[in-house]
Amino acid sequence: MTQSQIIGILGAGTMGNGIAHVCARSGFPVLLCDVAQPALDRGLNTIHKNLAREVAKAKLTQQQADAAYARITPTIDRQTLAPCRLVIEAATEKFEIKSALFRDLDRILAPEAILASNTSSISITRLAAVTQRPDQVIGMHFFNPVPVMKLVEIIRGLQTSQATFDTVQALSLQLDKIPVEVNDAAGFVSNRVLMPLINEAIYAVHEGVATPEAIDTIFREGMAHPMGPLTLADFIGLDVCLDIMRVLVDGLGDPKYRPCPLLVRMVDAGWLGRKSGKGFYTYTNV
Ligand code: NAD
Repeated sequence: MTQSQIIGILGAGTMGNGIAHVCARSGFPVLLCDVAQPALDRGLNTIHKNLAREVAKAKLTQQQADAAYARITPTIDRQTLAPCRLVIEAATEKFEIKSALFRDLDRILAPEAILASNTSSISITRLAAVTQRPDQVIGMHFFNPVPVMKLVEIIRGLQTSQATFDTVQALSLQLDKIPVEVNDAAGFVSNRVLMPLINEAIYAVHEGVATPEAIDTIFREGMAHPMGPLTLADFIGLDVCLDIMRVLVDGLGDPKYRPCPLLVRMVDAGWLGRKSGKGFYTYTNV
């Protein structure tokens, strides 16, 4: 993609604002679309704060940060995405929401435009099937926090064309990311491997094998993980972890992916991790 081509981002939440940030920082004009103005305002505010942090750390000059911010145009009207060459969807993780969006974008965008989804677990092939351009639908799975994490898992749906893959891979490099190609299967690679690790760590707590602190220390100090699996689970959100385990057990049909009963109980109690103030640990600054 050339830097005159506009990138549309759907959803200004945790991931959408991060993706808008990196696209704008790399020189692309961005249309950031959400359903309501308050969500857009929160997203823009986060981008502003995160750009300022990069200036403070001397990763960007003030001028570069200002220019990046100025490249982002917020909108609550999806129709304005019409000139985008690529739209990256980062809306709420529900198939009904995403499939409705993909159907609508398929109608709004030019025939050559690419539709990418940042979904963590929904089948790209299923999303592609609701459009008239399944060969131009692809997964572009960024990691949180997007401005910092280098990886982009690029997921080929069954019908994704080589040209679509090549464009998205090249764009990921333009965004200073490290793209890795995977095929469409439940949990892709990242969550298929990470979530069972987290789930097993929760089983170890559930069965009284060790405390959360002990388990996390083992992974930090013995395996050189920057944070242990239970700290990471609290960071991701225990509800999100549970949803992904359910996608794995449904999609792969193997009972080894069944969510730990303790995880289910904690989510039932509203203990969702960092965002609710309580998970495996307690958080005061939420
Ligand atoms: P979030 O709840 O922070 O943000 C979702 C945003 O989508 C909200 O602002 C919401 O208003 C908006 N939205 C909902 N319906 C919309 C619509 N019809 N049009 C436009 N915007 C709409 O969620 P998030 O954590 O940013 O997750 C977004 C996507 O990224 C999900 O698919 C999730 O699985 C995926 N993801 C999340 C993470 C993570 O760590 N949070 C990591 C990788 C991928």
